[in-house]
Amino acid sequence: MTPDFTPLSELGEFGLIDRLQDTLGAPLDETVVQGLGDDAAVYRVAEDRVHLLTTDALIEGIHFDRTYMPMAYLGFKAMAVNVSDIVAMNAVPRYATLALGVPHNVSVEMMTALYSGIQQACAAYGLTLVGGDTTGARALMLTVTVVGEAEQGRVVYRSGARPGDLLCVTGHLGAAYAGLKMLLWEKEQAEQAGEGYQPDFSPFSEVLERQLRPRARTDVVAHWAQAGIQPRALIDISDGLASEVNHLCRRSGCGARVRAAALPIALQTRAVAERHGEDVDTYALFGGEDYELLFALPETDLPKLETAGADFVVIGTCTAPEDGVEVETPEGEVLPLMPQGYTHF
Ligand code: ADP
Ligand code: MG
Repeated sequence: MTPDFTPLSELGEFGLIDRLQDTLGAPLDETVVQGLGDDAAVYRVAEDRVHLLTTDALIEGIHFDRTYMPMAYLGFKAMAVNVSDIVAMNAVPRYATLALGVPHNVSVEMMTALYSGIQQACAAYGLTLVGGDTTGARALMLTVTVVGEAEQGRVVYRSGARPGDLLCVTGHLGAAYAGLKMLLWEKEQAEQAGEGYQPDFSPFSEVLERQLRPRARTDVVAHWAQAGIQPRALIDISDGLASEVNHLCRRSGCGARVRAAALPIALQTRAVAERHGEDVDTYALFGGEDYELLFALPETDLPKLETAGADFVVIGTCTAPEDGVEVETPEGEVLPLMPQGYTHF
């Protein structure tokens, strides 16, 4: 008899994680405040003091293509995407380790450049790289782990949103996807034109930077702490807004209505969509890797954020769970908002 073989594609990434969680069962250690299921794990280290722990990998051929990803940017991005998951708990990043898988076609000079980017991220985010691991590999792989710190009462989970809360985002959306779009398009042009092709990236520098060297919003969390602001629920936007709204609603037990007309979109992002004849709202809803923050806020807190000059826009409201997660198009049509992130399996 052949053993059962269920393809991973049958469960998908999140179905698989749910299955793994069932196998693990609930954490036995009572200092664990939050196990898997949020942006980072949370465990108590002292009365009202917690540490946060998160890990995220960047794999060549899946997350980046070395033909257009400068090594220094890759190092910066590997750190920033992990810092973003600590920020997504309203906490402060402190320490990191990095496990590297390095193929033969990577040079010492490339590794040095990679580490200069890592150093820049450490300086920017107050992070210290305290160790790691180095091994051979078929493709370049970076797996970063970051530890953060917070007061227990300041930590914000995905699960705190309530019907009636406002849904807000920081910065603007869809830019990292627009950057990727330009890189892939220019790569195709270069392949067709052959040697000597010179792409002109200058009109798209902002969206390219968003794709190649995203920033984590440590500034937002620092501003909230200083202004006494604490959202009710929080998640970072790594897999696209639609996916993150669904995660937040699922964990909070509520629905949501997102207004497409309210989505913050930069001019360069609009220009890229226009150039490719595509709908820019699709970039903002489904494009990944923006690393902005999505949060839920009681309406009564709105004046406080406005007075503090916080960086945010209201994009919708949390609704009753039975209403589901919906998007209202600029034409006023209401459609279900399905998560459509990157399909790993
Ligand atoms: P994020 O996009 O914020 O990095 P993910 O979608 O990668 O979050 O993961 C969702 C949750 O599942 C996180 O709490 C993460 O720690 C957990 N998780 C993901 N993969 C695994 C795994 N292989 N084993 C245990 N937990 C996992
Ligand atoms: Mg996250």
